[in-house]
Amino acid sequence: MTPGITISERLSALRGRIADLARAAGRDPDAVALMAVSKTHPAEAVVEALEAGQRLFGENRVQEAAGKYPALKAAHPDLRLHLIGPLQTNKAAEAVALFDAIETLDRPRLAEVLAREMARQNRRPDLFVEVNTGEEAQKAGIAPADADAFIAQCRDQWKLPVVGLMCIPPDGENPAPHFALLREIAKRHGLTRLSMGMSADYETAIRFGSTELRLGTAIFGARGTPL
Ligand SMILES: *Cc1c(COP(=O)(O)O)cnc(C)c1O
Repeated sequence: MTPGITISERLSALRGRIADLARAAGRDPDAVALMAVSKTHPAEAVVEALEAGQRLFGENRVQEAAGKYPALKAAHPDLRLHLIGPLQTNKAAEAVALFDAIETLDRPRLAEVLAREMARQNRRPDLFVEVNTGEEAQKAGIAPADADAFIAQCRDQWKLPVVGLMCIPPDGENPAPHFALLREIAKRHGLTRLSMGMSADYETAIRFGSTELRLGTAIFGARGTPL
């Protein structure tokens, strides 16, 4: 992030950069969505992004999003909000009601609860299966070895609207093999959406076929303490 410039200026610079990189990778720039990750930033920052034309947002905690977004969604019906942080089953009902996509489906118990909630609320947010490509013990996500069976089960057994995959590569590692692995798994299942790439690695993610870049710091600046 460059200090002293506005959210609007950062967004416009990023849009240009992303389009250039997409074209350089032989991809359609419109196929690469920019998600503004607003966690820990106040509603005023989101409003600034909305005024600059941004419509796709991400939050990693249900509680924080529930405090910030209902009013913004009411004022901007075309705003789309994705959950990108771990989801506890006891928050699944709230998540189904609030989010347009849940990107962190990673275990059978959660799949079951989401299927039940979607039926109960008659609301079907898009789902992404999160894959723990680095097989890190402390990180959420289904293990790569279990991903094929889990994706198939989500679709066949629970009839869930799985549209793509999501990953967060290990800190300090080359993200390229992780993005390649995610793309490979998605391809086997005919899944077209790949949520990968953050402020530090989005340029690589574009080359590996990302369709949603999750950018926080690059748009809103450094994060302070969570709300
Ligand atoms: C916070 C977060 C981001 C954004 O991270 P930046 O490095 O600030 O761009 C992306 N994805 C997930 C899952 C996050 O929690």
